[in-house]
Amino acid sequence: MNNPDLPSFRRIVIKVGSSLLVEKSGGLKEPWLKALVDDIADLHGAGADILVVSSGAIAMGRDVLKLGKRVLELEEAQAAAAVGQIALARAWSESLAGHGITAAQILLTYGDTEERRRYLNARATIGMLLGHRAIPVINENDTVATQEIRYGDNDRLAARVGTMASADCVILLSDIDGLFTAPPQKDPKAEFVPIVPRITAAIEAMAGGAASELSRGGMMTKIEAGKIATSGGAVMLIANGTKLHPIRAVCEGARCTWFLSPSTPVTARKRWIGGTLEPSGTLTVDDGAASAMRAGKSLLPAGVRRVEGSFNRGDCVVVRGMDGGEIARGLVAYDAVDAVQIAGRSTRDIEAVLGYAGRKEIIHRDDLVMSGEGTS
Ligand code: GLU
Repeated sequence: MNNPDLPSFRRIVIKVGSSLLVEKSGGLKEPWLKALVDDIADLHGAGADILVVSSGAIAMGRDVLKLGKRVLELEEAQAAAAVGQIALARAWSESLAGHGITAAQILLTYGDTEERRRYLNARATIGMLLGHRAIPVINENDTVATQEIRYGDNDRLAARVGTMASADCVILLSDIDGLFTAPPQKDPKAEFVPIVPRITAAIEAMAGGAASELSRGGMMTKIEAGKIATSGGAVMLIANGTKLHPIRAVCEGARCTWFLSPSTPVTARKRWIGGTLEPSGTLTVDDGAASAMRAGKSLLPAGVRRVEGSFNRGDCVVVRGMDGGEIARGLVAYDAVDAVQIAGRSTRDIEAVLGYAGRKEIIHRDDLVMSGEGTS
């Protein structure tokens, strides 16, 4: 199989590691950032949506707080992140502004990507920003993330952001070219692996065995990120970011490792909705709504005749036609108590009925899978 072509992707997450962006002395590598942003602006200008996951907050902040080079306690790292994140966000925002691109800062904790309600909110915000052609610049919210429930590495965070944003490509810029059959520092016979069609036990073994706290951020963490990204329908790429213009280099054929995905973001998401969730309620819809949904439209409250079950916003519900037959499943945008109240009502009445302006759709079409679709 040939290498995928970078400009063919529609929505790309680019993860930048601390050592690429921050000097050992704690200063920003400005020429490097400027060159990367030139590459990003090229992809963005060609129409792709771009999300950046940028590390470097702790590396920049530890210098300002004069914490030296030692291993930091969690509280120290959190304080350093609080200081460094301001400078980091500013650097991105100013560099992107040089190309007329708006940057938006998003700081995520583990709960924001794993808890369904918060996940949906973060996803909606990212969708809105990308719709405005802004570039979200994302980092873990290290300042409040607690030890047990933090990513701690931006490789997996970038992959998770990729699935959350339905990205079709995740690029991890690293300090090595990609995956080798064995760690190349230890084994001179290690060979480069340009394409990984599927992450198998043999691939994990190449990365140096099972992950441990110590291997966080290393190749094993990148393989874990690969599992997240590829099962979410994105292709993942590990590329060397140490030179100027690393993305242009990949476009021009620099060696890198591609992790292919068996599906696309849409089919992966639909399979997840259609197959793996235990539905927690039922919406019965009229014939007009059923045919609108079959034509690819969202389900609006007006078409809902009956609401059953106790569910929360973000839960999977079954959609049935008036004859009781299942026609779809989807992630519902309202809690059951609110869904009951807005069922049959026009979208413009939602605010008056509920006291807040919720989403227009009760199930958005991106969150809807018609029966028989997306299960192959
Ligand atoms: N979130 C951390 C920071 O910004 C970096 C985590 C990582 O390097 O993967 O400093």
